[in-house]
Amino acid sequence: MIEVHQFPCLSDNYGYLLHDTESGETVCIDTPDADAYLREADHKGWRITQIWNTHWHPDHAGGNKDIKAATGCVIVAPKAEAPQIDAIDRTVAGGDSVSIGSHQASVIDVGGHTKGHITYHLPDAGIAFVGDSVFALGCGRMFEGTADQFWASLKRIKALPDDTLLYCAHEYTAANARFALHADPENEALAQYADEVAERRDRDLPTVPTRLERELAANPFLRADDPDMQARWGGGDAVATFAALRTAKDNF
Ligand code: ZN
Ligand code: FE
Repeated sequence: MIEVHQFPCLSDNYGYLLHDTESGETVCIDTPDADAYLREADHKGWRITQIWNTHWHPDHAGGNKDIKAATGCVIVAPKAEAPQIDAIDRTVAGGDSVSIGSHQASVIDVGGHTKGHITYHLPDAGIAFVGDSVFALGCGRMFEGTADQFWASLKRIKALPDDTLLYCAHEYTAANARFALHADPENEALAQYADEVAERRDRDLPTVPTRLERELAANPFLRADDPDMQARWGGGDAVATFAALRTAKDNF
């Protein structure tokens, strides 16, 4: 059985430890904070055997060296960002797969936030670690990629099974909801989702993971191919609408 242990890290990151009960393997999904990861693994009684990085940003790969020094774990990281990531053992790209015990994860290219960003999808567990590519009601800032590339990445996420749980790397949902309501004011599913987000955040509860089905109905960035969104935001095609939404969010 696969278990995910989620804990807050740094100011608004989530740390994730992925554990396979049969093999005893434990994977760090990204490494925002080495001490927090080592402490949490210790509390769970889990031995860290791997790190899977999603992209090079320090709040995702900054703890690689220290966790490897403490555990001797194997580090898997995106090939396109290898020069920017410490202590890598294996590089992977879209189409490759990695494993934890007998469970496979497929690597999906989701470049756009950074050019080589990847997602790890475990189909048999119905979960995906999406880093800063897609967030609950949002998506990552487009620091390195192009709108074309980012939209192609979001389409790959949209194509996963509807009931996939998306483990995003940050708790940004309340701010994302404010923009989403501005971007798509007549969306009932979004209005209901936004209410629930406000209520959960009032009680200090996480809004992550989120189910893909829900994002497809309410996340404005995943809806850039919707005719109503295109009419509202212009462009006439999904890439142009996505670009308009991304720019509007950056200035919101
Ligand atoms: Zn990032
Ligand atoms: Fe980040």
